Amino acid sequence: MSVNIIGLSREVYKGLPTTLCAGCGHNSITNHLIKALYDYGAPPHLLAKMSGIGCSSKTPAYFVEQAHGFNGVHGRMPSAATGAKLANRELLVLGISGDGDTASIGLGQYAHMIRRNVDCVYLIENNGVYGLTKGQFSATAEVGSTLKNGTPNEFPTIDVCGLAIELGGTFVARSFSGDGKQLVPLLQAAFSHRGTSIIDIISPCVTFNDHVGSHMSYAYVKDHEVTLNAPDFIRPREEITVDYEPGTTQSIELEDGSRVLLRKVDRDYDATSRIGALSLIHESRASGEFVTGLLYVDTGVPDLCEREKLTATPLRDLKEDDLRISREDWAALFQA
Ligand code: SF4
Repeated sequence: MSVNIIGLSREVYKGLPTTLCAGCGHNSITNHLIKALYDYGAPPHLLAKMSGIGCSSKTPAYFVEQAHGFNGVHGRMPSAATGAKLANRELLVLGISGDGDTASIGLGQYAHMIRRNVDCVYLIENNGVYGLTKGQFSATAEVGSTLKNGTPNEFPTIDVCGLAIELGGTFVARSFSGDGKQLVPLLQAAFSHRGTSIIDIISPCVTFNDHVGSHMSYAYVKDHEVTLNAPDFIRPREEITVDYEPGTTQSIELEDGSRVLLRKVDRDYDATSRIGALSLIHESRASGEFVTGLLYVDTGVPDLCEREKLTATPLRDLKEDDLRISREDWAALFQA
């Protein structure tokens, strides 16, 4: 039986059978997550799967059954994820949300998690509609896209990637549920990044938003996807064997010594330029393109645990004696 670098089989990374609609993009994301976590060698007992409400937020049930899971109230996943990380900074915190959960009721929570740079991987399974309540537009729907009954969306879209970069996000990517080749290494780079890693994944809702007129149908995304860079994830001490033409690859070292290699596909692009990333997002929106890949990364920003000067020992492991000043020290303090 084949096993990963920590000796676990792929079966360990699976979860319960999905209850989502057949063909839903979220099911593909689950499969990519299973592969990414298996290949990365994530220990299940150190994985915290967090979610809110929506079709997307059921996803944590479908992978790594032995990991911790917390299904919070609508839009409040970031608070629960922040608490889990502060209590045990050794956890890999993986938050799974949707466009409704993130860009409407949870927008304030989204904003503050990013500006605090909480060490959490935050996935947005984005389909532009509220699937769980029968397909009303969400705030990420494009202006001019239509519902199944022909009703057009007249409100401006909220671009969760542009917003994340504006708020000081340190790892911002966009991908497509149908592109595992791109998404799996992006996920692994996000697991290694120290800080909030946002991945906005266009994930078509086959039941309510896969028709002509939708800007998030499989057909529309396939026709309008522009791949910015093709990532490869390289672990620390792993030899870089991929043969790239000089000048066509950007190599970014992550905090744990691993690297993400970004092979330039469509245009010359620097993923460390905040202004460049914001310009690209605006330009691609104006031309109706979905640009996918790693949009922006900054590995030099402290995360919330560092800013708060938390002890290296996770808070949940501290005993009363570690926290309480001794009688002798107390007396010495008052004599000083
Ligand atoms: Fe997926 Fe849409 Fe079905 Fe929800 S309603 S499970 S988003 S296809």
